[in-house]
Amino acid sequence: MQKKLFIPGPVTVAEDVLEKMSTQMIGHRTKDASVLQRSISDKMRKLMYTKNEILLSTSSGSGLMEGAIRSCTRKRAAVFSVGAFGDRWYKMAKANGVPADKFSSELGKPTTPEMVEEALATGKYDLITITHNETSTGIMNPVEEIAEVVKKYPEVIFCLDTVSSLAGTKIPVDELGVDICITSTQKCLGLPPGLAICSFSQKALDAARQVENRGLYFDLVDLYDYIQKKDYQYPSTPSLSHMYALDYQLDRIMEEGLDNRFARHLEMAKYVRSWANKHFEMLAEEKYASNTLTTVKNTKEISVKDLNNKLGEKGYMISNGYGDLKDVTFRIAHMADTTLDEIKELLNIIEEILNLK
Ligand SMILES: *Cc1c(COP(=O)(O)O)cnc(C)c1O
Repeated sequence: MQKKLFIPGPVTVAEDVLEKMSTQMIGHRTKDASVLQRSISDKMRKLMYTKNEILLSTSSGSGLMEGAIRSCTRKRAAVFSVGAFGDRWYKMAKANGVPADKFSSELGKPTTPEMVEEALATGKYDLITITHNETSTGIMNPVEEIAEVVKKYPEVIFCLDTVSSLAGTKIPVDELGVDICITSTQKCLGLPPGLAICSFSQKALDAARQVENRGLYFDLVDLYDYIQKKDYQYPSTPSLSHMYALDYQLDRIMEEGLDNRFARHLEMAKYVRSWANKHFEMLAEEKYASNTLTTVKNTKEISVKDLNNKLGEKGYMISNGYGDLKDVTFRIAHMADTTLDEIKELLNIIEEILNLK
């Protein structure tokens, strides 16, 4: 049976968006391809509140995370981790021979501006990575406060992982001074997995040009230069199918209105949080709770696997915990095109299955 997905990616994709994936191919070195990529870039700039260039990558979000840390670290990277995805960024640095240090928070706790200040004050780092929304713990980091600190260090390239939050909550890239803001299609954007997108500042470009070994496929300078040289084309063959669907989905997003979209996500988040507090507990402190997914502490020691099996019979799917949190938490995503009514329907069925009524 087809299940409605309440997992933090991939999400259920609207039928009309899915249909766009089956649009017939065009040559990727044609004017039409340029028009398509330019159209996506213009709309992504609105969604990210930025004037910076937009780079696409035929990969999932991880590709651009690896590309960013490798392409733009000249001296040493400070990687701030609040869970699985910050840890992954550190592993990418190591695997690429990029000098890096990791600054971890306790699971369920945020990266604080004080932590960032302490690291940057050493003068050792010229790039930092922050996870905006940690999908394992359901933490949304205080990015405005962190940004205030980073602004004091103009030589530092600010990389932000917004894979599970962009298009679900407002991330004003230019106001925050984010140099590289990274996302991918299968979470709040509401598309199938397979395309990554980032904003790329002039400062990041200038930094990257000083780095000798940037690789090639995920070299952000190569992606950037191709856009300039070939009028919004891609160095290799991009996933045109994703591009059609993304261009269309961005129109749907603008039709809903960005403020409305962010308000819908917040409304769903508040509903799930209050449900979680009533029947279980939340892993994140309320102040740092994510607007796009909720990680619930499994205080009743239910079998999440059994719950998901029973949900599956009714056509729904939620997510168990991630990594070390596998059995002690479960996660409910409320992202992309999900509605409050669908969330209510899901929680109602969970209550029935668990006899919580
Ligand atoms: C899903 C996710 C990633 C990985 O993205 P992929 O598109 O699967 O490569 C990275 N960071 C966060 C916060 C995520 O939620």
